[in-house]
Amino acid sequence: MKRTTQAIHTSFAQPDPYGAISMPVYHTAAYEFADAAVMADAFCGRNSLPDYSRVTNPTVSFFEERVRRLTDAHDVVAFASGMAAISNAFLVVAAAGKNIVTSKHVFGNTFALLDTTLKRFGVTTKYVDLTRPEEVVAAVDADTCCIYLEILTNPHQEVADLQALAAIAHAAGIPLIADSTAIPFTELQISALGVDIEIVSSTKYLSGGGTSIGGLVIDYGTVPQFSRRLRHEMLLNLGSYMTPHVAYMQTLGLETLHVRYQRQATSALALAQRLRGRTEIVEVNYVGLPDNPFYALAQRQFGPTAGAMLTIDLADREACFRFINHLQLIRRATNLFDNKTLAIHPASTIFGPFTDEQRRQMDIRDTTIRLSVGLEDVDDLMADLVQALQA
Ligand SMILES: *Cc1c(COP(=O)(O)O)cnc(C)c1O
Repeated sequence: MKRTTQAIHTSFAQPDPYGAISMPVYHTAAYEFADAAVMADAFCGRNSLPDYSRVTNPTVSFFEERVRRLTDAHDVVAFASGMAAISNAFLVVAAAGKNIVTSKHVFGNTFALLDTTLKRFGVTTKYVDLTRPEEVVAAVDADTCCIYLEILTNPHQEVADLQALAAIAHAAGIPLIADSTAIPFTELQISALGVDIEIVSSTKYLSGGGTSIGGLVIDYGTVPQFSRRLRHEMLLNLGSYMTPHVAYMQTLGLETLHVRYQRQATSALALAQRLRGRTEIVEVNYVGLPDNPFYALAQRQFGPTAGAMLTIDLADREACFRFINHLQLIRRATNLFDNKTLAIHPASTIFGPFTDEQRRQMDIRDTTIRLSVGLEDVDDLMADLVQALQA
């Protein structure tokens, strides 16, 4: 079966007594057992019956299984948010005295998690330019526990060579962990490029219209015990599993993911092409434009589409605020890959709490506006962008 078909048809582990076509939402904390021996087996992992919804729930398991089949993964674990997925994955590989090699160009809260929270527990971070493999080789040492990256950084849209980084990680005996939120896993086969652990904020493309917060850790089975430790240590001790209602909504989102993504990515390219050359805009950044420095690598790694996020740079902060204030159709909001097109000024919002020095280190410019392109008609979007630029 092709992935578009597979995304819609995954059968339940057990037939539903009413023949429901959608996976029922099992809103329950606990589960009853036939006898004490079956109960003991469930709690000790000797059967696959659910015991408590902090660690397993049939609706969440169904969602995980649907993602697992689409990605050909060894196991998939669903979390309460993308940040929960990232932090739990780090806690599996890291320990006091270990270090993580990554880039300063990561999602704002991922940077804060590394730079503030994990640091307090003795886990340090080495920031390098991941597009320069020689810098990565020099940074990896005997205490490095993983190389971590985002496959298309937000908002810079930087693309690192996954195969080159996987070779460095594997030579050092450590995993390559990649946050692939910016390009849906239905569109690329990241494990074929050497990624061991894939992380997704399912809040974005997957939730299908910005309905809910969620995260996924996709384990390709190359790191011994990884998902086992996520389930048997992290879910039990930290308790950040996805809830059944969210799993239900994100299962629905998954069914339409490919269709929505194709349209959003096509519109993003059309807007990028039509916006460049406008005198009000200093720069349009989109990796799907053939003269983008990452174009060839992005095409090789992600295929013909390049996501639904693009940025424009205007003259200064005042011009950015004026533009945002004049938008009529496009919403002033954070989030990515909603059905609705969204605009935000990252420097004053997502990166607002950071110091000027930190923003400089992260290359967050005061002149950049990020657009997440939705499902609206592209002419209507262009008309709104043009009137706001001219204001
Ligand atoms: C949004 C986002 C996250 C965090 O996900 P939440 O679901 O908001 O916790 C992590 N990484 C990337 C690339 C994101 O865009």
